[in-house]
Amino acid sequence: MIDVRHDPTDLIESSVELSVVIPMFNEEEALPALVERLRPVLDGTGEVYEVVAVDDGSSDRTAEHLVDLRATWPQLRVVRLRRNSGHQAALTAGLHLARGRYAASLDADLQDPPEKIPEMLALARSQHLDIVYGVRVNRSTDTGFKRRTAGAYYWLVRRLIGTHVPSQAGDFRLLSRNALDALKTLPDQPQVYRLLVPWLGFPSGEVTYHRDQRVAGHTKYPLRKMILLAVDSIIGFSVAPLRLATWLGVLAFFVCLGMLLYTLAVYASGDTTPGWASLIITVLFIGAVQLICLGVLGEYIGRIYTAVQKRPTYYVAEDTDTDHASSRGIAWPGPRRGEGSPRNFLDSQGIL
Ligand code: UDP
Ligand code: MG
Repeated sequence: MIDVRHDPTDLIESSVELSVVIPMFNEEEALPALVERLRPVLDGTGEVYEVVAVDDGSSDRTAEHLVDLRATWPQLRVVRLRRNSGHQAALTAGLHLARGRYAASLDADLQDPPEKIPEMLALARSQHLDIVYGVRVNRSTDTGFKRRTAGAYYWLVRRLIGTHVPSQAGDFRLLSRNALDALKTLPDQPQVYRLLVPWLGFPSGEVTYHRDQRVAGHTKYPLRKMILLAVDSIIGFSVAPLRLATWLGVLAFFVCLGMLLYTLAVYASGDTTPGWASLIITVLFIGAVQLICLGVLGEYIGRIYTAVQKRPTYYVAEDTDTDHASSRGIAWPGPRRGEGSPRNFLDSQGIL
């Protein structure tokens, strides 16, 4: 089997210190404000940086605007996914392709303040941290519904998965090269980074921030996607739903025992049709035992199911740095993950 993840060009050292990964889906309205605020912050750091804008199959003019912006902002790199693959998959593409010693991820709508990125970087360096979470201290700009559902989500995942998952930490965070490389070694599965990153167990710190309102456009997370993220979070990190089946089986077994006693009592009083008692006991008992067995089987099948889902989560259609890496003075010869990469070759051949 060909491992499409380990591109030989990964071995080439990059001089980029900071990558900023931004997944974008139909964000043409938010883009001007994002650039206006993000660029001075990054230019002001004095670091060698790149912005990896991942266009997640937008149907508006996000990709075209991004490519136009490159004319005046050479550090902007545009990665276009072949189709809309979802926020977490777009984030995966950006994190895999990022070349920086550190990579910050943030949303395109300026709900996560870019001004916090230098603070995250300074904290990571001074305390030798591999992960710095952006933690929301105030969600007053979110709707009441969003606040309540987010509250329920973090309560549930912390209860089911563990309290090492920071509450109110979304996808605004900084990762070191060590953490990025660790993420790259994981199998290609739909990931939920806000749970996966804490699970890696790297030394981590927090930077707090106030969550602003979306600067323009509308949310790309309708209720359906929010529910899918919650289900992915729970199924991907916990076997609690499968255990529920087992516990239901155990419950059914005890109900069956009660029914057994009742049936025996009715039988003893002689108030039955002959054969009814033995029949009902058998049906109830077998039903309960089958439920228990199904629950146990489910425990195993759930684990196997997760392990065998080796589907690639994204396909890169275009990476502007394939042709223009030298424009930023970065040594990057040969094909990179992009049109010339194994992943894309396999994709173009219809193999993936
Ligand atoms: N996004 C994406 N693909 C999707 C949905 C969203 O790349 O299928 C991006 C979106 O453009 C934004 C980020 O993910 O940069 C978070 O989305 P959004 O701000 O709409 O979510 P919310 O803040 O409302 O939860
Ligand atoms: Mg948002």
